[in-house]
Formats: sequence, C-alpha cells, structure tokens
Amino acid sequence: MSCTSARQGAPRCREPDSVRGRGGPKRAMTLAPPLVSVLVLLGIVAGVSCGGGPEGPEDESEFAAARELMVATQIEARGVRAPRVLAAMRRVPRHRFVPAPLREAAYGDTPLPIGLGQTISQPYIVAVMTEALAPGPGDVVLEVGTGSGYQAAVLAQLVKRVYTIELLAPLAERARAVLAGEGITNVEVEVGDGWKGLPAHAPYDGILVTAAPDVVPQALLDQLAIGGRLIVPVGKDEQELRLITRTEHGFETRTVFEVRFVPLVREVE
Ligand code: SAH
Repeated sequence: MSCTSARQGAPRCREPDSVRGRGGPKRAMTLAPPLVSVLVLLGIVAGVSCGGGPEGPEDESEFAAARELMVATQIEARGVRAPRVLAAMRRVPRHRFVPAPLREAAYGDTPLPIGLGQTISQPYIVAVMTEALAPGPGDVVLEVGTGSGYQAAVLAQLVKRVYTIELLAPLAERARAVLAGEGITNVEVEVGDGWKGLPAHAPYDGILVTAAPDVVPQALLDQLAIGGRLIVPVGKDEQELRLITRTEHGFETRTVFEVRFVPLVREVE
C-alpha cells in the first residue's frame, strides 16, 4: 500500500476500493493499517462474525450519528446529489457489514478489510458507483463481488431485485447471513465467477462490478439490457472507473475517475 496526495486536503493512503486524485472533506483514518490487521485477525481467531452483535441503543444512536456525518461530509459534500442514493446511504447500517472489531471504524472515509484479503469499499466510492448506475425502482441489477454484502444492501433499497455473485464461498455465506439479519429479502447471493456474469437472470438494467478486471468482461456486456448501465473499474495498477451504457446501436463509454480496487480474479488463468 502506498500513500498519494489527494488534490485537495490531507494525504490519503492508497488502499483497494478507494478513489484517487479526488479531494474533499475527510475524516482521518481512525486505525493504522497494522492495527487493523491485528484486530481482524483477532476477530477471525475468536470466531467473531459480521452480523448481529451486542450493541445497545446507545451504540446504535452513535452509529446513526456517525452515518449522518459520513453522508454529509464524505458523500454530499463531494457532489453526490441523487436523493434516493443519499437516503439509501443514510439507511443501511454499514457497521453491521464489517468485522466486529472494526465497527468503530465503519463510518470512516476509507475501505476496510473484511477477511480473505478483500475489502469493503470506501463509502464515497459506494455512493458514486450507485449514483452512476442510475438505479430505478423496477430495475433488476447484478453486482459482481459481493464481499461484505454492503453494496448489495445499498442497491436493495433502490431497485426491485439484486443478484450478487462472489467467488469466495465464506464471504458469500457471511454476506447472506448479514443481509438476512437486516431483513433484506430482495438480494440473492450466488457463489461463482463474475467474469461469466450470471446468465440465468439476464438481461440486467444495471451491472456494478466491485473488483477490477484488466479488460471489460464480454459476458457482462452481453448480459446488459438495452438502456442498461455497467459500472466497472478497469485496469491493473492504474485503474479507471468506467460507465458503459448499452444503446440500440452498441455501447457508449464514459470514464468517471481513477480508482483502486482489488483485482477481479480469473478462476481459470
Ligand atoms: N462490494 C463489496 C466489496 C467487494 S471487494 C462490499 O460491498 O463489501 C471485491 C470482491 O470481489 C471480493 O469479495 C472478491 O472475493 C470478489 N471477487 C474477486 N474476483 C471475483 C470473481 N472473479 N468473481 C466474483 N467475485 C470476485
């Protein structure tokens, strides 16, 4: 992990699932990365899971206040405007999707480790990608890279049905449990290789990819409905977030900005 200087504001550490070269109001990282690793390890060793938890009403109101602040200072202040997206970000309890020892850090301006070398994206990135997807209430969407299940939970507030596919079965299982614990019933978590998409439920009005392929997977383009949007980080070290819209005549591509995500793993190299 290396540190770069954002255009405005304090230097920020480059970690997967964060934005590069974008400034704005920031909250300091509350935990240094080595401490984060130790805490995650302790959590895993102690068999602490993501969902549920003993926090009482006081903790819950503190988390709610932290969530409000997150939306105001990290998301709205940086230009995310879609009211439905902001409402969804206000509603979903991000702290329940991170490993228990990291709950206090859940509303910080940073990605966080979720085990097995994967990360939950920085809240701002989740909001930007969700807004770019332009989700409508009747839409059926596919997420590639379930991870913690948080992005799927945000999408679930905004569309009719979310299918999400995850390569690593333990993460998929944990995400299923957390989503069920939150009473979210319009998300289906599948274990599989996102390079192939999920043809069984295609075409999709939107596809959101939360790990970076080096090229746009053809299967995802094929599974997009006419008028559908694909938001995907593309590249290896240097990655750009692309918004690809399928028209009646082909595909239109717009680059959003530079990002850094974990790679979309090829199951068979
Ligand atoms: N959206 C997630 C963050 C995802 S991190 C969240 O909200 O927490 C990226 C995820 O993509 C990881 O969980 C990783 O295991 C998964 N992944 C990587 N390659 C994949 C592939 N080929 N198919 C499906 N999932 C993949």
